[in-house]
Amino acid sequence: MTSDDPHIRDTLVGSGARDFVESWFGGEVDSGLYPSLEEVFGLLDFQIGQGESLHGDWAASSLPSVRRAIVACIHHVIHANTRGAARTYGRFWELVASLNRNVSVVTLNYDVRLEAAFDRLYAKEALIDYCIPLINYDMPKGVPGFFWWTDPKKPVTLFGPEIPTPIKVLRIHGSLTWKYCSVCRGVLLTPWETAIDLELDSFTWTHGASCDEPESTFELVCPYDAATFEPLILPPSHIKHWAHPALTPLYSESMRELREARHVVFVGYSFPEADVHIRSLLERSIGSAQVTVVDPALSDYSRARYRSVSPNAQFVESTFDAFIDNELGELLMEAAGD
Ligand SMILES: [Zn+2]
Repeated sequence: MTSDDPHIRDTLVGSGARDFVESWFGGEVDSGLYPSLEEVFGLLDFQIGQGESLHGDWAASSLPSVRRAIVACIHHVIHANTRGAARTYGRFWELVASLNRNVSVVTLNYDVRLEAAFDRLYAKEALIDYCIPLINYDMPKGVPGFFWWTDPKKPVTLFGPEIPTPIKVLRIHGSLTWKYCSVCRGVLLTPWETAIDLELDSFTWTHGASCDEPESTFELVCPYDAATFEPLILPPSHIKHWAHPALTPLYSESMRELREARHVVFVGYSFPEADVHIRSLLERSIGSAQVTVVDPALSDYSRARYRSVSPNAQFVESTFDAFIDNELGELLMEAAGD
């Protein structure tokens, strides 16, 4: 990680994160050798788990807020670098819509370009099911109307001749568009809003100008208890814990989906050695499913890890773009015919 972005380091949140990183990895940072996120969160998670201070300046009680500040910075950086709908995802959804909608997506990414490209299917043909009870479903007073979202598990409004297909998108590492309330454990989805305010250490919402009112910005707070929302992304760490109440059910849901799948396709996942939680998930859920791994440059170690969870795994050495062009359509049709 770096602290060179002036938009980050000069903010309230960014300066707190920078102080900690430079204090603990100072010599290396000065020479341009930044620690990995796994290293930073590994240290923090270990100390927080032990309930022990690092030294006088970093008391045990201060470490959770340091951790939260670094998570907020990660949230900001990903937001700044992953806006818009990727064309690749648009083509993916087009094939799904036309050939076989009986698919589920498990993603480790935080960005939401996948959903940004979902417009092709929404809402006549399909709806996204995040498999978590969003605050949006109830739309309590205080939630901007722009955040309205359909609960695909309930009877839905029809915008065409057919009932839209619910498609699961399981974000087991969280999402930039999810805001978590640690008081009521609620999750608010802000479908088109991924920014975080590093000066206010909160999420804000700008209400567009209308003929009656000027443009105004206000802080998003939980409509049930007025608590400030927190980012809901699970950072990389050598000590990965799954105690987060909002994400744990998604891990279980992913296990169920993988267990029932006939064909599992991995895209752009190098299956790193440190991802023991993913290895555990796959070991326990992939049975006789056909497994295809799409990656243009997978190491022998990564291939060996894939084979350890699925001995007959097939490897396709291509980009996701090329896979969509050449193989995905046939695969979807085969799966639909099973
Ligand atoms: Zn709440």
